[in-house]
Amino acid sequence: MRTQVAIIGSGPSGLLLGQLLTNAGIDNVILERQTRDYVLGRIRAGVLEEGTTHMLDEAGAGERMRRQGLPHEGFDLTFNGRRHNIHLHELTGKRVMVYGQTEVTRDLMDKRLSTGGVTVYEAAHVEPHDFDGANPYVTYEKDGVTHRLDCDFIAGCDGFHGASRKAVEGKGLEIFERVYPFGWLGIVADVPPVHHELIYANHPRGFALCSMRSPTRSRYYVQCTLEDKVEEWSDDRFWDELRRRLPPETAETMTTGPSIEKSIAPLRSFVAEPMRFGRLFLVGDAAHIVPPTGAKGLNLAASDVRYLFDGLREHYAEKSDAGIDVYSQKALSRVWKAERFSAWMTSTMHRFDDTGPFGQRIQEAELDYLVHSQAASASLAENYVGLPY
Ligand SMILES: Cc1cc2nc3c(=O)[nH]c(=O)nc-3n(C[C@H](O)[C@H](O)[C@H](O)COP(=O)(O)OP(=O)(O)OC[C@H]3O[C@@H](n4cnc5c(N)ncnc54)[C@H](O)[C@@H]3O)c2cc1C
Repeated sequence: MRTQVAIIGSGPSGLLLGQLLTNAGIDNVILERQTRDYVLGRIRAGVLEEGTTHMLDEAGAGERMRRQGLPHEGFDLTFNGRRHNIHLHELTGKRVMVYGQTEVTRDLMDKRLSTGGVTVYEAAHVEPHDFDGANPYVTYEKDGVTHRLDCDFIAGCDGFHGASRKAVEGKGLEIFERVYPFGWLGIVADVPPVHHELIYANHPRGFALCSMRSPTRSRYYVQCTLEDKVEEWSDDRFWDELRRRLPPETAETMTTGPSIEKSIAPLRSFVAEPMRFGRLFLVGDAAHIVPPTGAKGLNLAASDVRYLFDGLREHYAEKSDAGIDVYSQKALSRVWKAERFSAWMTSTMHRFDDTGPFGQRIQEAELDYLVHSQAASASLAENYVGLPY
């Protein structure tokens, strides 16, 4: 089989890139290790920057998001028992959109199906080859048979545990990483959200986040230890802990109910440099991970796709490699700013065992400064809604 762009992975980055390429008349094939249902079953991101929503529109996959997504003008910060609003729209003129990653993925998959895009699900042992030269190809196994996909370019959109980054180890790849000494215990429950916007809570017992997927489905998180086990967290224990970390008047109004999903996610900051190796490009989580505190992971995947798609379109339409040549540099410049913001927000909102009561007071002073200084609030808001591409 031959295509112009072989895409490894059908997460948001692979699907978005694939759709933009298809719309531009550039042939592409997606190779995905899992089944379609497995990919759709993953509950992850939920906050989209305006840049991401515009790209979904451009891909022709934004219609349901515009109807069902929840535009948010701001979010609340709580600390010292008080709640403060950060009005994103007043501070930046921009909003964010709450729309689950599962729905983004479903819309992109449906669009791909309706425009005839090829996706090979359950492709095992996917491996990129010869991307240092002019004739790269990807091998994979399907139903016990090995296949070869020849192509002009390979887009490694296969997430943190994929095959693409592994293929460039020892070829000048440099890794920058910080693993945090805690995780997030998250649940989804079919109860109305405690507030119509997100609440980020700093509390001596640890961080908490009140988020949502719809007016009837809530997504809540509490900071937990790396030793915590999901089985040890009954729904009652989770709700009690969440309530303790919120101001009393907020906790009192919270509706609780049985969880429909419960999991623990470790927190990590990670960047792989560079993001281009000859004719192979690393995109999204394959190249970088942020702790979810700043809601940047999916949005960074979208901005990588912006830069790569523009470069590939230029290559085919204008016979120029200028865009491709600056892909890694442009993407990394935005990635590092989002890494900085996510690490800062994580360190400001979470309990760190080694900093004790002193660290707590410093965080409260920083948060107090944040909510009372127009300049500090504006800086927080500017980063939260997403820096320009
Ligand atoms: C709990 C949690 C909450 C989050 N919250 C947010 C948030 O609020 N906002 C935000 O912006 N981001 C958030 N994120 C991050 C966001 O989910 C990711 O950044 C996003 O999924 C990255 O998309 P991707 O397409 O690059 O990678 P993935 O979504 O990881 O997709 C990679 C795809 O490649 C496939 N694959 C892997 N290996 C192979 C292989 N060898 N061969 C073929 N296919 C392969 C995988 O099955 C997968 O389908 C969150 C993440 C988690 C875990």
